Amino acid sequence: MKSDYVWMDGELVPYEEAQIHVNTPSLHYGYGAFEGIRAYDTPQGGAVFRLREHLERFVDSAQVLGVQEFPYSVEDLRKASHETISANGFKGCYIRPLLYFDGSFTLNLDANTPHVSISTWEWGAYLGDEGLENGVHMTVSSFTRHHINVSMTKAKITGNYANSVLAKTLAVRSGYDEAIMLDPTGYVAECSGENLFLVRDGVIYTPPRATILEGITRDSVLTLANDLGYPVVEEPISRDQLYIADEVFVCGTAAEVTPVSTIDHRQIGAGRRGPVAEALQTAFFQTVKGGGERSEEWLEYVEG
Ligand SMILES: *Cc1c(COP(=O)(O)O)cnc(C)c1O
Repeated sequence: MKSDYVWMDGELVPYEEAQIHVNTPSLHYGYGAFEGIRAYDTPQGGAVFRLREHLERFVDSAQVLGVQEFPYSVEDLRKASHETISANGFKGCYIRPLLYFDGSFTLNLDANTPHVSISTWEWGAYLGDEGLENGVHMTVSSFTRHHINVSMTKAKITGNYANSVLAKTLAVRSGYDEAIMLDPTGYVAECSGENLFLVRDGVIYTPPRATILEGITRDSVLTLANDLGYPVVEEPISRDQLYIADEVFVCGTAAEVTPVSTIDHRQIGAGRRGPVAEALQTAFFQTVKGGGERSEEWLEYVEG
């Protein structure tokens, strides 16, 4: 997670000096928001994937949290992201904007002051290179994903991720790579940090938006699936529909497009990356690396 500089409230600060106090209320109560973005090394230089959409979601996360005066515009954050990547000399990297608050130990957001930082670091495949190729092992978690009226599902609010930590840690300790989480009504929602798809008889299915984090990679995969001519259906999915799918795969900025080989010790399809996951993965990587039909639309080359 190291780099030369971190952007903090408008300044590029040397990495070691990018610190906040232990009494920062966001750290105690989990009110804050973050975003996760990737830049890729392309033949035309470093390029950020769908930066504007990610920054709009960052501002939306603050809106869901209830921040009344967000200190920066999307355009300010866009410039700051470019500045941070280029100051660190990165081409391919992960970009992490964070909203946090300082002030007093109150649960009233309005009594505290919002701050924004942007960190960048070089980061490989989140579920492993091996996973991208051969698929990963998953389990349906005994922890339920957020109820839409308990924690908001549309925002990357920091405190919401305690739920993901519970599910992910239990899954990994139990020998799996990742946890699939059901929504409070028992339908498949998403993973601890990825959206999920299944393929059956040539049709791609994915859970509808209401109870999930609306992934930008999910939207990209759906668009690429359309471009490639696959029918896509957004509808509620049950746990056993996963077990009898021809393919299951997940996606997110961190996990990119990763196939699933087993769920709860049941082999999914052929037990390795299936043809639809492979076609979408290929289209996705072509796009982010500058050689896809949507590259121009979705990539922003790093300035400076
Ligand atoms: C960030 C995230 C995703 C993936 O969203 P992307 O925009 O594709 O990175 C999916 N689910 C959860 C819970 C997330 O936090």
